[in-house]
Amino acid sequence: MSELPVVVVGAGPIGLAAASEVLERGLEPVVLERGSRAGASVAQWNHVRLFSPWSELVDPAAGRLLEATGWEHPAAEDYPTGQEWVARYLAPLAAALGE
Ligand SMILES: Cc1cc2nc3c(=O)[nH]c(=O)nc-3n(C[C@H](O)[C@H](O)[C@H](O)COP(=O)(O)OP(=O)(O)OC[C@H]3O[C@@H](n4cnc5c(N)ncnc54)[C@H](O)[C@@H]3O)c2cc1C
Repeated sequence: MSELPVVVVGAGPIGLAAASEVLERGLEPVVLERGSRAGASVAQWNHVRLFSPWSELVDPAAGRLLEATGWEHPAAEDYPTGQEWVARYLAPLAAALGE
């Protein structure tokens, strides 16, 4: 069983966080996304600003994976829009995971 990939359904914030946690544990995640890109659901409300600051929006394992690529954590106290959450976190995270 340990030689089989772990399938994650959905490349939203939770699916990508799960995939990051799986990868950090030395397993292979395979993320299935029905939309045209990661964060497809969040992208439906691009213009809306979140009520959570960046400090609550980056999964720890995902943050470590991104920082290894040179990514810089957005200011912890700022509140992104849905568009910014995708552009500054979900899209680079999907790329770091190999999309
Ligand atoms: C307007 C608005 C504001 C919000 N503000 C906040 C906030 O400030 N703070 C906060 O913590 N939360 C906020 N939320 C909630 C937050 O967006 C969700 O909790 C979060 O997106 C859930 O992540 P998820 O990955 O579980 O689901 P989703 O973001 O819904 O992602 C699911 C992904 O799976 C894909 N998918 C679905 N079914 C399948 C399938 N069968 N096969 C393959 N792919 C599939 C979808 O296309 C999508 O990309 C807000 C939500 C809305 C609508």
